[in-house]
Amino acid sequence: MKIAVFGAGAYGCYTIDALIKKFPEAQITLFDVGNSHIKSEKEIGYLTNMLSTYYSGLEKGRFFGLGGATSRWGGQLLTFTKNDFKNPTPFLSDIVKLNVKYQEIIFKKFGIHSEFKETKITNNLFIKKGVWLSYFNRNLFKYFKINKRKNVVIKSNSRVTKLILNNNKAVTRVIYKQGNIEKEDSFDFYFLTTGAFESNRILLNSGLTDMDELPFSDHLSQKVFKIKDSTIIQGEDFAFKVNGSSLITKRIIGEIDGISFFSNPIFNSEFSFFQDLKKVLFKRKLSFKIIKNIILELPSCLQFIYCMLVKKKIYVHKNEWYLYIDIENPINKSFISLSKNQDKFEEKGLDVSFFIDENAVDIFEKAKEMIKDYLIKNEINFEECVSTIQVEKSEDTYHPFGIMSSFNSMDEFYNQYENFCFFNTGILPRAGGINTTASVFPLIEEFINNYME
Ligand SMILES: Cc1cc2nc3c(=O)[nH]c(=O)nc-3n(C[C@H](O)[C@H](O)[C@H](O)COP(=O)(O)OP(=O)(O)OC[C@H]3O[C@@H](n4cnc5c(N)ncnc54)[C@H](O)[C@@H]3O)c2cc1C
Repeated sequence: MKIAVFGAGAYGCYTIDALIKKFPEAQITLFDVGNSHIKSEKEIGYLTNMLSTYYSGLEKGRFFGLGGATSRWGGQLLTFTKNDFKNPTPFLSDIVKLNVKYQEIIFKKFGIHSEFKETKITNNLFIKKGVWLSYFNRNLFKYFKINKRKNVVIKSNSRVTKLILNNNKAVTRVIYKQGNIEKEDSFDFYFLTTGAFESNRILLNSGLTDMDELPFSDHLSQKVFKIKDSTIIQGEDFAFKVNGSSLITKRIIGEIDGISFFSNPIFNSEFSFFQDLKKVLFKRKLSFKIIKNIILELPSCLQFIYCMLVKKKIYVHKNEWYLYIDIENPINKSFISLSKNQDKFEEKGLDVSFFIDENAVDIFEKAKEMIKDYLIKNEINFEECVSTIQVEKSEDTYHPFGIMSSFNSMDEFYNQYENFCFFNTGILPRAGGINTTASVFPLIEEFINNYME
């Protein structure tokens, strides 16, 4: 079987690994717009035209090349359970069922064997565990050793622009560009995994949706509480535990009027060694000032290493940490559509309109009160970071959802086309209280294992 995979990011690489397990003889061609040198939106030459308040998700949250955004992502893996949504739609319910079915298998793929039981802490709140992947396991192109697979041909610097269908059910060919030269090719099966925004730009450009505008939303984030003295609340230690080369994380999740929120512990944001280390690892910055800071912070740095190696948990500088609250921005007026303006490839860019819903502040206030009650009841020493909520889109949390997600069931989603499927976080109707990447892996597993012959 000749299979095409478009995009070498998280889902493209995961798809290839799962495909080879099921079809060891498959011949796979992987198309990626970039190459081994990861580029930002500006560097690759894509175009975003903001029609509203600035939303940084496209400009700052997209990376192109072999590994895609996963080469720069946070690397936290979390999945859904029945605790996440009180009244899920049938489609979301199917997504949750698949998350439960494949959670263990997926985490084992990343070398994690611990149990992931969730703990109810009040009527409305529960604690979910996640995995913070080791820095060296975060680029899934490298992790799954895609360039060493004998049955994979990699076409880098090849931008997919359009899919051609015969009767609206089967893709017959793909149009792609190398530089500005247009080419085409045909396969038995096609997977579109070029990221939430570009995948949907391609669907719009190929006329695979009746709509001119596609809705979307994302999480909003706010630093809310500073916790002092201890990382333990009601017997739960929120300090991340070391598991092999990864960390096990904890967060509190709740839901208000059908909108999910999560309260996420952030450690060491005022510990300059930790911040410098993040700059070196994630932003690839190394300067004399950073080296000098690391040397000056050497005593704390040794404690950091001691905690990781001996106590097997994260060091918490001065025993102080923050609880952020992130909420789902209710899907309302935000949308993407094809722009009149063209990008470097002479392709239509994306017009993006992002609006913070008028109920967002109210939901934040209610979530804040719930977490505050929990802290007070457990006699935690804390202070509030802000007196009034100022909703923002924080730089490190990009979880676009609700773009192409109006399906009645997973079956309907899988059976849209004869020989084509797309996977990105935009197919999730809700982002819930998690970083969503790992919640789509089960959908890929199920499709390849039970829908492809
Ligand atoms: C700073 C940051 C931190 C994050 N932290 C987390 C986290 O901790 N946990 C979590 O779950 N999520 C996190 N995310 C989100 C996560 O990175 C994405 O959900 C994930 O990468 C999505 O995978 P993808 O395969 O859809 O897209 P990508 O990983 O972006 O891959 C898309 C690929 O397609 C290629 N491509 C693009 N256009 C074309 C085209 N037209 N033709 C051919 N190839 C193309 C690109 O080069 C790229 O390789 C974070 C994101 C950022 C920016």
